[in-house]
Amino acid sequence: MKMQSNYPFMLIKLLTLHSLLALSAAQDFDFFYLVQQWPGSYCDTKQGCCYPSTGKPASDFGIHGLWPNRNDGSYPSNCDSSNPFDASKISDLTSHMQSEWPTLLCPSNNGLAFWGHEWDKHGTCSESVLNQHDYFATTLSLKNEINLLQALRSAGIQPNGQKYSLSSIKTAIKQASGYTPWVECNNDSSGNSQLYQIYLCVDSSASGFIECPVFPKGSCGSSIEFPSF
Ligand code: 5GP
Ligand code: 5GP
Repeated sequence: MKMQSNYPFMLIKLLTLHSLLALSAAQDFDFFYLVQQWPGSYCDTKQGCCYPSTGKPASDFGIHGLWPNRNDGSYPSNCDSSNPFDASKISDLTSHMQSEWPTLLCPSNNGLAFWGHEWDKHGTCSESVLNQHDYFATTLSLKNEINLLQALRSAGIQPNGQKYSLSSIKTAIKQASGYTPWVECNNDSSGNSQLYQIYLCVDSSASGFIECPVFPKGSCGSSIEFPSF
């Protein structure tokens, strides 16, 4: 008799536990930024760069990361220390990663530290949508869908050290891809503002590009350099 009267209580406890677990696994972000860096603008800074051990990367944009973000501009980071980067999970992607996601940080290395940092900081926050292998595979295939350098070249914007208006850069990418990018600048060693990274937005299931719900803060000058690499 006593045991029986405990059942409803136990059931409620179990249901509460279940929904708490479901909540902790639920996604805590609204969209992704796909961030790509121009290698010339990483290398010509005061800090300089080192080519990866596999050699000088192509003169093209490289992936920085796929970053879960919230509509209010905030973002989660380092979400699951129990699921650290494991290179063996992406061994089939290594050669593709080396060409599309090269590291430029010194000292020269094979890229695993950069990829591991991106997984641990950002990837673990979208693990309910993309497991470790798919996080990298999906990022690679998203990059492939929009050729940023070709979009710029088609509008006469070349990595030749000249200055271009920020609006012409955004318009060229919007025209070629259909999506409005965010442009982040940095300074070369002489202090000139230059095109450093390009942000595009991806829906929360990482199935395709969307217009950005919110842009990061900060801005470039109205005219910026596009250095060679
Ligand atoms: P920084 O402060 O140099 O712009 O960014 C440093 C790092 O903070 C980035 O590489 C990235 O990991 C993270 N970060 C900066 N801004 C954003 C943002 O708007 N969204 C997300 N998800 N991460 C960001
Ligand atoms: P985030 O800015 O996303 O937090 O991560 C950038 C981190 O990765 C920094 O600690 C940076 O030193 C390291 N890193 C390694 N390779 C690269 C690279 O090629 N570009 C950038 N921006 N950071 C790199």
